[in-house]
Amino acid sequence: MTYEYKCDECGAGIEVRASMAEKERGLNVECPACGSARLTQVFRTLNVINGNRSSSPSSSPCCSPGPSTGCCG
Ligand SMILES: [Zn+2]
Repeated sequence: MTYEYKCDECGAGIEVRASMAEKERGLNVECPACGSARLTQVFRTLNVINGNRSSSPSSSPCCSPGPSTGCCG
């Protein structure tokens, strides 16, 4: 397992490899940049912000619905 942490002091991202047993016992993680032990675990989410609407049919560059048909040959 790889756990991600973010330093509360300097904001650096840290990746820690440990087994789940090690994680349950408590990881002793320090920031390699500033040496701080104030780290917050980061959980990756699979949800990506849905801002890409490039596949909208109304904005197709070819064959737009309307009186002028036959643009695609
Ligand atoms: Zn730091």
